[in-house]
This record gives sequence, structure tokens and C-alpha cells, in this order.
Amino acid sequence: MLRAGVSRVGVSHLFLSHLHGDHVLGLVGLLSTMAGEGRSAPLHIYAPTNAGHSIAELIDLSTKLMDITLTFPVQHHILPVGFSGELVRTRNAVVTARMLEHRITSFGFRVEELPHVNIDLEKARAFGIEPGPILGEIKRVGYVHRSDGQTIHLADITTPPHTPRSFVYCGDTRVCEASVELAMNADVMLHEATFSDEMLLKAAERFHCTASQAAHQARLAGVGRLYLTHFSVRYKTLAPLLREARKVFPKTTLARECRMETIE
Ligand SMILES: [Zn+2]
Ligand SMILES: [Zn+2]
Repeated sequence: MLRAGVSRVGVSHLFLSHLHGDHVLGLVGLLSTMAGEGRSAPLHIYAPTNAGHSIAELIDLSTKLMDITLTFPVQHHILPVGFSGELVRTRNAVVTARMLEHRITSFGFRVEELPHVNIDLEKARAFGIEPGPILGEIKRVGYVHRSDGQTIHLADITTPPHTPRSFVYCGDTRVCEASVELAMNADVMLHEATFSDEMLLKAAERFHCTASQAAHQARLAGVGRLYLTHFSVRYKTLAPLLREARKVFPKTTLARECRMETIE
């Protein structure tokens, strides 16, 4: 986030798929940085437990051990085993989760934008409507009858809404129906691709996916674009993984943190 210039201030909800180290080890550093910046807004953390332990224990122990004083409340939300459904709904988006299939309890997440109404105040004023109760009524009901008999519809005073976008994160997981269902018709799917096809058996054994398996999932779900991530360190070059995936799902890209170079 530091390198990408992404602000931490706007982050209000964190979603942790599972508690393996490669998905959790950055958390305490992030919280510590947020405290250093004097954050006061609450932070919601969603995560499953593992072996009876929760992420709250990690935070409690780490902050004590390292003398970190959090300047903001952390609200923990435990994802129960088997959970499937809505986690958060804001004005702009809804986040849902599905349990996937990994060595330990692991979840995939879907973020879906909600249709947004953009009132064009200039258009509204042209109809003699000022911000206030009448505008509120049009937003609520969809139209308003004026005393002169004219009906003003919401579409008359809004700019066309953009098509809501959807993003799905699946990992870590082996091939499963849940990730396809979670990702159905999403615009973007970010999927783990730990191995290449020569490690197909190992992938199943370790509850991970190969790049082409991820591509199959993307094809079944009919997503717009697939981004692959979570590559085994054994690969000096990721070109074979990309090739294998593109044979199955051409609209595939490798997602690598803060790296602009591509193997296209
Ligand atoms: Zn894992
Ligand atoms: Zn992992």
C-alpha cells in the first residue's frame, strides 16, 4: 500500500480469507502504521478462526509484546465454518463471502457495487427543484407530481448510472463449486494460481490450484477478466503459468504487486 500510494485512511473493512501466515503476517504492521498515523475510526476485520484461535488473539498478543498502542477500535467479525452470504452492505457496495476448500477454513469474497443514483443539480434546477424534501421524494419514489400537473421522473434529473462492477477474490482454495458460484458473471476475478500444470497432483494434495484450473473456474463462472496471483516461489518465470491459463481463458493477466512489467 505504501509503494502503490494507496491511502490507509479510507480503509474501514479488512477481509482475511484464512489464517495462513502469507495472508496474515502483514496485518500487525498495517495496524501499527495506522496507529502511527493517529487513526481514530473503527476498523472492522472479518476472518475465520483456525484450530480454535482467532485473529484477535494475534493482535492482542502482538500489541502487548511490541508495545503498540492502537489509537482506534478494532471490531472483529468471525466467519463461521460453512458461512455463505452477506457480510457488509454500505451505501455503495455489498460484500458477500463463501467458504472455499483449503487445508484450513478459507473464504472467498465478492464485492459488488450497488446501482448509484447521480442527481444532476443543474437539471433538477431547470425543473425548479432545489435540494430538499421534494428531491428526497423523487429519489425515494422515482417521480413527483408537481402542482402544475407535470410529472418529473428521476431519469429527468439524473446522469445515467454506470453499470455496477463486481470483483471476486478466491484463494487459497483447490478447485471447488463454491468459487464458481461466488464468481458467477463477475467483472473481475482474482484467483490463486500456486502451481503450473506439471504440479497438478501436488496442487490437489495441498489444496491449491494450478493456473489452468483457475482459468477453468473463470470460464465456468463467465467472468469478464481473470487475474492470477499467489504463485509458488519455485517459479523463476511465470510465463508458462500465463500460457497454460490463456489456453483455457484468454482474458487472463498476472497480478503482481506494484510491478508494471508484464509477460504478455
Ligand atoms: Zn493457505
Ligand atoms: Zn496462501
